[in-house]
Amino acid sequence: MSISNLLVQYFLNLIKWIVCPLVFMSIMSGVISMKDIKKVGSIGGKAVLYYMVTTAFAVSIGLVFANLFKGFFPVLQTTDLTFKAKDPVSFMDTLVGIFPSNFIAPFVTANMLQIIVASLIIGFAMIMIGDNSGNDSRAIKTLNDICIKAMEMILKLSPIGVFCLLCPVIAENGTAVLGSLAMVLLAAYICYIIHAVLVYSTMVRTFSGISPLKFFKGMMPAMMFAFSSASSVGTLPLNMECADKLGAKKEIYSFVLPLGATINMDGTAIYQGVCSIFIASCFGIDLTLNQMLTIVLTATLASIGTAGVPGAGVVMLAMVLESVGLPVEGIALVAGVDRIFDMGRTVVNITGDASCAVVISSIESRKV
Ligand code: ASP
Repeated sequence: MSISNLLVQYFLNLIKWIVCPLVFMSIMSGVISMKDIKKVGSIGGKAVLYYMVTTAFAVSIGLVFANLFKGFFPVLQTTDLTFKAKDPVSFMDTLVGIFPSNFIAPFVTANMLQIIVASLIIGFAMIMIGDNSGNDSRAIKTLNDICIKAMEMILKLSPIGVFCLLCPVIAENGTAVLGSLAMVLLAAYICYIIHAVLVYSTMVRTFSGISPLKFFKGMMPAMMFAFSSASSVGTLPLNMECADKLGAKKEIYSFVLPLGATINMDGTAIYQGVCSIFIASCFGIDLTLNQMLTIVLTATLASIGTAGVPGAGVVMLAMVLESVGLPVEGIALVAGVDRIFDMGRTVVNITGDASCAVVISSIESRKV
């Protein structure tokens, strides 16, 4: 084995190693962060519904547009990354197999949907038993922070991993691969814009009577900060200020925005949809409708567990790929330009959170 193959293997093994505990811990801490939902009553329910529906819509837009762009994506000729597709599983079988029958099996087999379900059940169980001391929640939060730190350490290796993976691919397939990266980026950015314009504009206009122009103008400072920092969590203070100026109520945005920064990732979902199609296409695989539905389901649920920090989406992509049997090696194709994807997806993520705060504020004020 050459030294470059060895480095690639180290990098990919580490990504595969961290993704299961990361998903498990971050979904649990996402669920635990909803524990105030009862306190805020219907507002919490509405926010979670808004977040889940818009995220499912986002990943669907990503899948549709990436399919339209498929003609521009190359099929790799390289032998190193050749991949044999697994037998397709029907969506019904996926749904049936979603509940694990053994506690550790989902981790051993890296069955992402089962890990998501297990973490949701345990997270909600933790809320139900109540935790007056706050020790349990703090323990999960600390474990989650440890996983995020480990992920950041592994991502520091990505320049080496990506370089070693991409070099033979470019040598064997030519620089067209790099050109096609521009097309994936373009597809993702088109989807980011369409989603923001179509979904958020419609929602704020319909429910709050705010013109889309006013909404996006008011959101500009937070959007610019999100673009440069690629962190939803880091943008939170500025996002609160913008939501406030747009007329969202303090008691609503101070709950809905931190929750959104933890569980709502529409931009990340779009990115996962687009990249799954791109990677499948590079390996010469046509995704079936069943696999696409599985991606919608996985990416929507995964968004609960995506940390609002730079680079989290790329590790979650590994999980989405695993869920439909696509090769995790594929992330090397897009990881080199991940920061560019990340800047755009973070803008969409935080704009989605703010639109939810504005919409729910208007709905609630109409009730009074
Ligand atoms: N950077 C994104 C955010 O903070 C998460 C991601 O990597 O997709 O919202």
